Amino acid sequence: MKEAKETISFIRDYYERSDFIPLHEPKFRGNERKYVVDTIDSTFVSSVGAYVDKFEDMMASITTAKKAVAVVNGTAGIQVALRLAGVESGDEVITQALTFVATANAVKYNGAEPVFLDVDYETMGLSHTALKSFLEEHCEVRNDKCFNKISGKKISACLPMHTFGFPVKIDKIIHICEEWNIPVVEDAAESLGSYYKGKHTGVFGQLGVFSFNGNKIVTSGGGGAIVTNDEFIGKKAKYLTTTAKISHPYEYIHDELGYNFRMPNLNAALACGQLEALTGFIEEKRELATKYESFFDELGIKFRKEPENSTANYWLMCVELQNKKEREEFLKYTNQEGVMTRPIWRLMYKLEMYKDCFRDHQKNAEFLEDRIVNITSSVK
Ligand SMILES: *Cc1c(COP(=O)(O)O)cnc(C)c1O
Repeated sequence: MKEAKETISFIRDYYERSDFIPLHEPKFRGNERKYVVDTIDSTFVSSVGAYVDKFEDMMASITTAKKAVAVVNGTAGIQVALRLAGVESGDEVITQALTFVATANAVKYNGAEPVFLDVDYETMGLSHTALKSFLEEHCEVRNDKCFNKISGKKISACLPMHTFGFPVKIDKIIHICEEWNIPVVEDAAESLGSYYKGKHTGVFGQLGVFSFNGNKIVTSGGGGAIVTNDEFIGKKAKYLTTTAKISHPYEYIHDELGYNFRMPNLNAALACGQLEALTGFIEEKRELATKYESFFDELGIKFRKEPENSTANYWLMCVELQNKKEREEFLKYTNQEGVMTRPIWRLMYKLEMYKDCFRDHQKNAEFLEDRIVNITSSVK
């Protein structure tokens, strides 16, 4: 396959590497080592420490959120964010089927059911038109709450995801959700450093959640952050994720079912070093995106660019192939040759756990599932 062959040489030239090239690998070239060693020297490696506080301050400042709370990973962060938005057992949560499984799992952990709506072709995130149609066709507002008339269940949150760091049309989604009294929680796990209409993703909704897993744009080894502009919710997020303990100098009293979802100081130290490097990483990725764009243009392959009104972090870059067969060939050839590529996720309702969940027509999601392939996106 000529296209795959040329892509491999382009990637090998860019990275100046002849060995196996992973899709996305972390880079530590700033203060990461210094900060991590510092936690060991101080003995503060666990659940409290100066780096946890510093990380939370940095996240609040980067996103302009009033409050950021460090958590053990992004999945746990979404789980708690949904609970804070009011999701209870037996409810329904609107989200997209074209996402990483953690989005849907976080809904299920709260005893709620995901409702899968189609994505926008351009952003690859939740479609505001699909959202509007679903609500108008199937839902009603009673006692200030939104109910699904068919299942009889309360729709207690909407959880859009910013796919690969490309922002969804979040203002439109929020506008619709406001009309229907549905709180919005943003799965911003992939969109640290991505802006929509000049504002950082994750702070449009009531809550937003970021991930610092090893494959994300920056990493803490494993970790996450919940952000919110609601100070009460922010305090409650900290309290719930740190075992719901009443503040006291020595007594251990917990007055609610909390979680041990803390991010250890050791990980927060790594995250602080990485956050310092974020702007540089994004510049480098955006330069690579420009190079990819002209390269794929010439090859006749569609390189996916940031949507209108947004500045994307280009966390994982991707191309759109002609059809499923071409996608298969491209994947097979590149992976065989040691340049890792990966198809976009299997749609959630095709997974065993979610096969009985409600879904709409999924026109764009099905189209994208057959064609989108992620390509090497690490910084050099
Ligand atoms: C990575 C990711 C998560 C989960 O984050 P973890 O830190 O790995 O738990 C959630 N949602 C999406 C879309 C992700 O890409």
